[in-house]
Amino acid sequence: MEKILNYINGKFCEAENGNFINNIEPATGDVYSLIPDSSAQDIEKAYVAAQKAFPAWSNCGIEERCRILTKISNLIDEKLEDLAQAESKDNGKPVMLARSIDIPRASHNFRFFAHAITQFASESHFMENSGINYTLRRPIGVVGCIAPWNLPLYLFSWKIAPALAAGNCVVAKPTEVTPMTSYLLSRICEEAGLPNGVLNIVHGLGNKAGSAIVSHPGIKAISFTGGTATGKNIASIAAPMFKKLSLELGGKNPNIIFADCDFEDALSTSVRSSFANQGQICLCGSRILIERSIYDKFKEAFIKKVNALQVGDPNEKVQIGAVVSSAHMEKVLSYIELAKNEGGTVLAGGHQVKLDGRCSNGYFIAPTVIEGLDHTCRTNTEEIFGPVVTLMPFDDKEDAIEYANSTEYGLSSTVWTQDLNKAHYMAEHLQAGIVWINCWLLRDLRTPFGGMKNSGVGREGGFEALRFFTEAKNVCIRYK
Ligand code: NAD
Repeated sequence: MEKILNYINGKFCEAENGNFINNIEPATGDVYSLIPDSSAQDIEKAYVAAQKAFPAWSNCGIEERCRILTKISNLIDEKLEDLAQAESKDNGKPVMLARSIDIPRASHNFRFFAHAITQFASESHFMENSGINYTLRRPIGVVGCIAPWNLPLYLFSWKIAPALAAGNCVVAKPTEVTPMTSYLLSRICEEAGLPNGVLNIVHGLGNKAGSAIVSHPGIKAISFTGGTATGKNIASIAAPMFKKLSLELGGKNPNIIFADCDFEDALSTSVRSSFANQGQICLCGSRILIERSIYDKFKEAFIKKVNALQVGDPNEKVQIGAVVSSAHMEKVLSYIELAKNEGGTVLAGGHQVKLDGRCSNGYFIAPTVIEGLDHTCRTNTEEIFGPVVTLMPFDDKEDAIEYANSTEYGLSSTVWTQDLNKAHYMAEHLQAGIVWINCWLLRDLRTPFGGMKNSGVGREGGFEALRFFTEAKNVCIRYK
């Protein structure tokens, strides 16, 4: 059975305790590889390596850092097919999705930050008749990056690339649920000639290896993407240690459809924004709010399209693969039961899907659509993070804003309208870090990315990420 290994100081090694955890393929339910069960000892080893590598890496010059990160990006492109197959097997997502979204975006993250650092200028402020200020932005030192399972390599690289570009050394932990592509990335980093210790990838459980990163006194910044409860726990440990923190957390995003929208566009994009990656994207629109005058028309057309989605082996040409684990499948199914108990009517799906052959023990759920629920109930306010959406009618834009803002989350939102005034009004009043107008998941990596309310703290993306991964120092010079 294949053993995934830690990548510490440029070497591949088991956890110090020699223990491994099973890695399961969600489409089959079978154990197919083993993950090091790392602990604080391994994090300490990674930290020492990173600290040793820091002076040379932070001073090697941006051209050199750009060159190596670009090489990593090129190698990801070269190995796209292998990485896509690995991501699909590890996560359960259709290989077509990994091939077209996850892996190209991972490559793009490295290429983008390789070049962004060459354009990263610090500010200067002139004071009339008295002086000038300029800002030095230097790397922080050793930083920690912790990533989730839904877009494994895509989100892992989204953190690591800016941290490295800015001149930091990194101790990173991918999720124990989908560790394979981050292991393959460590092989790529070796091939790209990344100096030893600059990036250390340590595998293992969140409450063991992950918490050892968060509580390590020498790791001065933590960039975390994952669940809101985990983020709260991390903040409670890191904040009293005065660490810099970037938290990208959960969402319960509204998808608002006005009667004056481009109907076909709104319809087909809503199918994607509801069920892409089995609904396991923090940006999925899980609450569809539809203006009452087109509610029945939209509902009918939407259900027809949802029922046509194919659920099946992620290796094949299907739109819906497996959800990530047995525990996650049970969680999602329990929310469907909750929705029924809360008075909801299931219009499509609502059950586990049993496949034949290789996938007979896999974790598949039919794409599920529910209506008839109040916007304040648990189904409509808690993050389900699976192939489940609710439909709700609204009467006017004030109604839509009230429903949309009525959760503790504030990650993203989507608005469908052809009326420019209405679009701007909604963008101003929606409590969300991202407002998409007439689109979904259209991403420009230069823009600030993150959530309001319980969806997170701070912003990543573009220069925001480079600012996060550097310490600003104001230098004030008086002149006479
Ligand atoms: P999770 O919080 O369970 O785990 C995320 C990572 O944190 C994993 O690597 C895990 O091992 C680690 N971890 C767990 N406990 C820890 C601890 N005590 N200390 C340190 N590390 C710990 O999240 P998940 O289930 O992997 O991912 C799904 C969640 O991520 C959803 O809530 C989703 O909305 C969110 N998410 C948010 C974004 C965003 O950009 N806002 C993007 C993707 C996913």
